[in-house]
Amino acid sequence: MSPITEETMVPKAAAIEGITGRTNSTPLTLEQEKNPWEAQAARFDEAAQRLNLEPGIWKILRQPMREIIVHIPVQMDNGTVEVFTGYRVQHSIARGPGKGGIRYAPDVSLDEVRALASWMTWKCAVVNIPFGGAKGGVICNPRAMSQGELERLTRRYTASLIEFLGPEKDVPAPDMNTNEQTMAWIMDTYSMHTGQTVTSVVTGKPLSLGGSRGRREATGRGVSIVTDEALKYLGLDPVGASVIVQGFGNVGSHSAKLLWDKGYKVIGIAEYDGGLHNANGLDIAQLMEWKATHGSIHGFPGGEAIDAQELLLTACDVLIPAATENVLTSLNAARVQARVLVEGANGPTTPAADNILAEKGVFVVPDILANAGGVTTSYFEWVQDRMGYFWTEQEVNERLERIMVDSFHDVMRYAREHAVQNRIAAYMLALDRVAYTTRQRGIYA
Ligand code: NAD
Repeated sequence: MSPITEETMVPKAAAIEGITGRTNSTPLTLEQEKNPWEAQAARFDEAAQRLNLEPGIWKILRQPMREIIVHIPVQMDNGTVEVFTGYRVQHSIARGPGKGGIRYAPDVSLDEVRALASWMTWKCAVVNIPFGGAKGGVICNPRAMSQGELERLTRRYTASLIEFLGPEKDVPAPDMNTNEQTMAWIMDTYSMHTGQTVTSVVTGKPLSLGGSRGRREATGRGVSIVTDEALKYLGLDPVGASVIVQGFGNVGSHSAKLLWDKGYKVIGIAEYDGGLHNANGLDIAQLMEWKATHGSIHGFPGGEAIDAQELLLTACDVLIPAATENVLTSLNAARVQARVLVEGANGPTTPAADNILAEKGVFVVPDILANAGGVTTSYFEWVQDRMGYFWTEQEVNERLERIMVDSFHDVMRYAREHAVQNRIAAYMLALDRVAYTTRQRGIYA
């Protein structure tokens, strides 16, 4: 093992301040509170401190391993050239290749991608799959772009990153505003460059190109499994339990549908431009059909329009933010009326909101556990591609269920043993695993 022994003593307060740049008593400003990287770092530091992590490992894991910025020229349909900025951040490859989605949005920032990349490291470690963490993003407005423009953007972004991607290096997947088609373009571009078809370079692909059965619903399925486990853990009855979901995209719609199938009563869906409410429960299968036909949830006859913010703060048993970051902050957390919060989205709750929710006794299933069903099934997809042998949907779903249930109880065990909130317990579990591997590998010099 490399000589990191000098630093293996328990860190003192001054040493911690030296690593993190702040003391425990320095509160975050609202701007910092809403910065996902700061939010990630605050939880990471707390977990590291509680684990008495040695300063060397702490410093290594606090920063991403690699951050790549590319400027991507794209010929637009009208003949002009636009240049888009894209990022790929690889936080850690200690436990395996980098793994994480790519998002397209006008407000993507490097700090956001950094945070998402490190969350991927912790998430993969929570469910104990052999991946590190990475994430990508491109600043663009996909709603205003044609399919041809999106294809050219995706292919050029992939080509710019070609030396850093690969089944053993870094394996992208879909995230906000990217989908199976985006992954097919990435797979094809990578394959053209390497001179052979390499399906395992991305996950979340179409079935016909080496995708896995069950991948599309996997994140929502994982959310539904941990919701069930949380209610059982708390002694609550899932049948008839009321649920409000924010976001009716991949994660939100499948979470809502699978919970509805199990007998939960989904009383509200919040979208970015308004919500839908029905105290007796929405018919989620019909709502999915409505959205597929009409392009939005609005106008659905089975519910009443409601302000999306108001819906988020409406009384329910289970609240599932499944849209974006910073939904629950110090400004609104005190008005949350849910018993259980299951984080389908990444980073929906700020550290300040965590403390308020804890005081209110809200039971939180944190993002790095709750939405890990997606990456777990991506892992299954990667394994199947490399074997060239594909599993049935039942096999995929059974394996997913086993991992999600076990991981939920692993996190609960850490929470009990260390007397910490569930989120910090999940970080501690993950950090313990990644730190162990990092120590074993030593420092290459
Ligand atoms: P998506 O683009 O399919 O869906 C997002 C949905 O949220 C859309 O319906 C959109 O209209 C809605 N939305 C956006 N901003 C909103 C707002 N401010 N208020 C209400 N609704 C809003 O994206 P997705 O893949 O479902 O991802 C959602 C979240 O889940 C993201 O945080 C993503 O990082 C996370 N996540 C996704 C996966 C996956 O497998 N897709 C896995 C893990 C985590």
